[in-house]
Amino acid sequence: MVWRRTSKSCSQQWTCGGSSYIALLSLVLFLGRWITCNLKVVLPYFDKIVSPVSVAHFSQYKLVRLLLKRLENLGFHTCTPDMLQSLNQDMLWEKKILMGHECISLHPTDQGVMVGASFQKEGKMEERKFHCSILVASDGARSTVRNLVGINMKGEHDLQKLVSIHFMSKDLGQYLLQQRPGMLFFIFNPEAIGVLVAHDLNQGEFVLQVPYYPPQQKFEDFSSKVCKQIIFKLVGWEPVDVEVVDIKPWAMHAEVAEKFVSCNNRVILVGDAAHRFPPAGGFGMNTGIQDAHNLAWKISSLLNNIASPSIIQTYEVERRPIAISNTNLSVQNFKAAMSVPTALGLDPTMANSVHQVINSSIGSILPSSMQKAVLEGIFSIGRSQLSEFFLNEDNPIGSMRLARLRSIFHEGKSLQLQFPAEDLGFCYLEGALVADGGNRTLETEAASGHRSGPRDYIPSAKPGSRLPHMQVRALNASFSKDIFSTLDLIPGDKLEFLLIIAPVEKSYDLARSTLKVAEEFKVSLKVCIIWPEGSSDKQETGSGTKLDPWTNHIDVEEIKRSSSKSWWELCHMTSKGFILVRPDEHIAWRSDSDTLDNIVPEVERVLSLILGVEKSCV
Ligand SMILES: Cc1cc2nc3c(=O)[nH]c(=O)nc-3n(C[C@H](O)[C@H](O)[C@H](O)COP(=O)(O)OP(=O)(O)OC[C@H]3O[C@@H](n4cnc5c(N)ncnc54)[C@H](O)[C@@H]3O)c2cc1C
Repeated sequence: MVWRRTSKSCSQQWTCGGSSYIALLSLVLFLGRWITCNLKVVLPYFDKIVSPVSVAHFSQYKLVRLLLKRLENLGFHTCTPDMLQSLNQDMLWEKKILMGHECISLHPTDQGVMVGASFQKEGKMEERKFHCSILVASDGARSTVRNLVGINMKGEHDLQKLVSIHFMSKDLGQYLLQQRPGMLFFIFNPEAIGVLVAHDLNQGEFVLQVPYYPPQQKFEDFSSKVCKQIIFKLVGWEPVDVEVVDIKPWAMHAEVAEKFVSCNNRVILVGDAAHRFPPAGGFGMNTGIQDAHNLAWKISSLLNNIASPSIIQTYEVERRPIAISNTNLSVQNFKAAMSVPTALGLDPTMANSVHQVINSSIGSILPSSMQKAVLEGIFSIGRSQLSEFFLNEDNPIGSMRLARLRSIFHEGKSLQLQFPAEDLGFCYLEGALVADGGNRTLETEAASGHRSGPRDYIPSAKPGSRLPHMQVRALNASFSKDIFSTLDLIPGDKLEFLLIIAPVEKSYDLARSTLKVAEEFKVSLKVCIIWPEGSSDKQETGSGTKLDPWTNHIDVEEIKRSSSKSWWELCHMTSKGFILVRPDEHIAWRSDSDTLDNIVPEVERVLSLILGVEKSCV
């Protein structure tokens, strides 16, 4: 069962599916007026090389609609509180998405958690109780569930307060399409400052972020009329059809929850409930999606009695370090983005300091209207530095600032949107996996995601890494597609592990033993035999009866790009190697069939470690 408090408007956006890595940022400065970030797709690097899918810049509210549709196709039903009146209590639990319900209380029980959810009935608030085995808190940055279980956030609080203005204007969309196509517009002018995100230039759909400074500036001051004026000031002319859809305040933090799991593995935080960071680099939603991906198979293994409750702890062990690392990167990137206004003489830390002084004991003795006037006066003096009168090549300070800006853009030191190593190459160092023995190698260092600054993604088969993508062709099995990705070998809709081997005698022995042990552990396992390129041209390819009596296997042939590496080279392994992949596409274990003498006890040890169970207990 899933419940949501509200339906969502377009106040947030993200670069979806772990793919902000695809974006190439090019910044163009238009003399102190508009700074445009153009998002381009870098086809040669990404298209079918490191990932089977390409990037999408997609608004969150549109994704939520898609996700709901997908859930409905899987047999879920979306229900409003009214619709629930006609359902009997037993049916309430079955595949329902309860809209308009807000979690307001929870109490751990022996078997799970009793949750209280409020909803509106005939204009009055009522409460309904649910008993859950596991409660996954995906209730956002201000998570009620996190507060109810008393988990604290650690990090930097309230870095900046902003107002998010969702608006439509085809007029502006058409202008930008023709004059300055782009996705992110950093606008600095003597009248106003803001960041405009173009969600859809054809439809004319935008979200504008403007900083605000309470208590002198109040959120209530941002009426539709005032927001329209801000849009006009930022744009520099008055598009005829601006329609403000939604206005919301939000605060920027850089914080990670001290714990992701509570109440005896029954309450689990995911997404912004577990971590909230500056929206710089497209990490927020992507990190949340990774959380859900990591957690889903673990909950399923637990509820299917394949794993022990300790598997839920591995969620925290694996995901928390990634959240901390992405928080640090987002902060670094946010600071890099601030290098532009700083170079223009608009140091954002100064604005915050001025604000703090006005809020301090000296400033606060002034009447609030005067505080507001002082604040706005100082900001207006700051912005006046952006006027053409000041910011021009003939003015020594203006010319120096323009030179500094050029060098920031030239050296690529502003906001980055490409983080291939972090988006695809993040690696769990410990958790539901069997780490390689020995020292950290260059490969492990590259995949670990613990170095600073943007880096390339280096595919790796180190345990904890995401399975590398390579295009393959089915040799004999009926697969829905002829050519597909190694990532497609892991089914998204069932709990199944994957063992990848080469067509080598010893690896077949290992695969048979692993299938046998997996059956004892009640774990579903598929074997994939990757054949070298060109195998399909030869007669007698395919594994035939080699894995008898087990039938859950598939033979595929690698499809190398010209001059690119073979599958095992890509994995930094030899064809004597084998790789065990978890249902979330991350590698659980790898080794070499040549070095394993006693296969069965070793595979038993490995599955026990991954699932947190002893063979005798299954
Ligand atoms: C301006 C901006 C730009 C961004 N850009 C990007 C980007 O480019 N890429 C990226 O990856 N991320 C981006 N993010 C971050 C991204 O939006 C968030 O990380 C993401 O929305 C978090 O998803 P979530 O499901 O955890 O929380 P949310 O999206 O906040 O959803 C929480 C849901 O829980 C509901 N809820 C709240 N309380 C309760 C309760 N008590 N009971 C029941 N339901 C409740 C809410 O109504 C809401 O529907 C951006 C954020 C902002 C503010």
